[in-house]
Amino acid sequence: MPDPQNETSFQIDWWNRVSLRMGIGVLLVTAAALASVGWFVNRQGAESFREQHITHAHDIARVVADRLADRMMAGGAAATWTSVAEEAAHFLETADVTRIMLVSNKGQVKVSTDPAYNGQTLAIDTSDCPECGREQIGNTTAMQTVASDGGKWLRLIEPVPAKPGCFACHPQDKTAEGQALRGYILLDFDLAGLEQAARQLRYVVLVVGAISGLLLLALVSWLFRHSVMRALDTIVGTAGRIAGGDLSARAPVESRDELGQLANHFNRMAERIEDEVGRLEASNLESSMLYSLVVEVSRHNEITEVASTVIKVLMQKLAPQQIAFFAKTADGRWVCATHSDNGLVSGSGTLESALISPAGDLAGILARFQDGLVTRALRDMRLQLLDEGMGFQFAMPLVSASGLLGLLACRPGALKVKLEPEMIENLGVHLALALENALHYTGAITDALTLLRNKSYGLSRLDEAVYAAQRQQQGLALVMLDIDHFKRINDTYGHPVGDEVLKEVAQRIRACSRKADLAVRFGGEEFLVILPQTKADSLAGIGERLRAAVAASPVTADGGKHSIPVRVSVGLAAFRAGLDKADTLLARADQALYRAKNAGRNRVEIDE
Ligand code: GH3
Ligand code: MG
Ligand code: MG
Repeated sequence: MPDPQNETSFQIDWWNRVSLRMGIGVLLVTAAALASVGWFVNRQGAESFREQHITHAHDIARVVADRLADRMMAGGAAATWTSVAEEAAHFLETADVTRIMLVSNKGQVKVSTDPAYNGQTLAIDTSDCPECGREQIGNTTAMQTVASDGGKWLRLIEPVPAKPGCFACHPQDKTAEGQALRGYILLDFDLAGLEQAARQLRYVVLVVGAISGLLLLALVSWLFRHSVMRALDTIVGTAGRIAGGDLSARAPVESRDELGQLANHFNRMAERIEDEVGRLEASNLESSMLYSLVVEVSRHNEITEVASTVIKVLMQKLAPQQIAFFAKTADGRWVCATHSDNGLVSGSGTLESALISPAGDLAGILARFQDGLVTRALRDMRLQLLDEGMGFQFAMPLVSASGLLGLLACRPGALKVKLEPEMIENLGVHLALALENALHYTGAITDALTLLRNKSYGLSRLDEAVYAAQRQQQGLALVMLDIDHFKRINDTYGHPVGDEVLKEVAQRIRACSRKADLAVRFGGEEFLVILPQTKADSLAGIGERLRAAVAASPVTADGGKHSIPVRVSVGLAAFRAGLDKADTLLARADQALYRAKNAGRNRVEIDE
């Protein structure tokens, strides 16, 4: 038999149900009550029979015995028997006796109200009387149960003691003590009638008892069902739902009794469990979310990658309906990663103006959140919350000592756990830190003027690209560009205009590059483009495209005051597996550039 205490769940066997055991209990109690009543009724029946008949019969026997004695003393004769028997017959009806017999002390029937018994010799057993407990015959009455003539009789045996006068005619009856019995008077009662009545009574008692028992059972069942089992079933059902994971389940409190109190206590207990589990789940969610953010974000250093990673992690952990993560880029623009837009969208100016500018990419995002929520957060520079029951819709500015770095806006989804404001603030601290790190990092690898990657970053990426090209047997090309006669531009228009030209040339080079390519400001007016997976035979085309892109149109500078034609010389080299390293590849591209310069500038040379 398994121990229910150690089982996670078990089915209740049908025979083990409380209601069934209660029912059986009621039936047993009813049966015991019925048996007791039956026994009592039987006993009362015998008692009342004795009360009604036996005493009366005893008196009759005395009278008959006295009359017989008187007649005998008065001379006696055979006729005496007959006359006494006739007189006795009068008593038959009044005492409800079937027959009265006068019997000699030898058991011979002298005379009987039922002539069929006359002359018979009867066995007179005077030893015991099961009905009344009278045992000795002496001077008292005895009774015996007799079966004869197909009937059953209760025989009352009344002794007829010998009187002194009797010995005159019956000297043989005299004993040494002078005591003797002359005979007996027997009164036979029909037991069949008595038993029939007892049977009927028993039947009535049984039927009434059974009906009462069934009614009692029905009543007890109804009461039990109504006042105990129903409430108990709902509590059991609710406990089952909670055990199955539905912690919001509560038992209805339907009565102000112990069961109502049980349901009440149970509900309070469930509430506490739900609260505790909610707290645990929330703190689990918080720590796992922050952990994932730290791990995932640490794999990326640039703002745009960080923004996409943050959205990926938060989508996974919070499953929001809407989410938008705005981040400031190194060049002071704004990028925004959302759950639905493919890739990043961006805008410029302050975040507020970028959000409402109809021309910008960010314009539609504001409408995904409650009206005014994001703008209020930006105006007050504080977390704005809107309780939506299942969670908070919020807009949280991400601020560092240097100012606004970003903003996270979120509309909650069907998440079981509700993020509390402190958790959101905590998340904000982490995100602001990640953005600040990314900004610092991006700043450290970016050329501040052209916003291309700087030389040291470019060189380390070139090392990686060379390693990958060597290992994967993929092509790699390097392009070096140098603005022709840039010094003249500086000299003619001034250094700031020279800067503007540098920025524009950088932009044209970037625009001409593939996503996988990396454009680097290598020196003053010198640029490097790393082109992974590029075959040697495509170098001429690439070089020419870059040259043409820069030279395509004059650069407008100083608010349109100047229109300056700009040209570049381009040198290219393709990586030779097994022969080149980063520095040799670089030197070869530089050589090609040198040749281009020498060959007249504004041209492309390839180191074969
Ligand atoms: P070449 O065609 O031979 O390349 O002639 P060049 O004048 O372009 O080359 P040179 O090396 O003689 O001059 C490069 C100039 O670029 C010198 C330097 O003042 C200028 N320069 C370098 N960095 C910057 C910068 O950040 N801003 C501006 N405005 N000028 C810069
Ligand atoms: Mg130059
Ligand atoms: Mg130069």
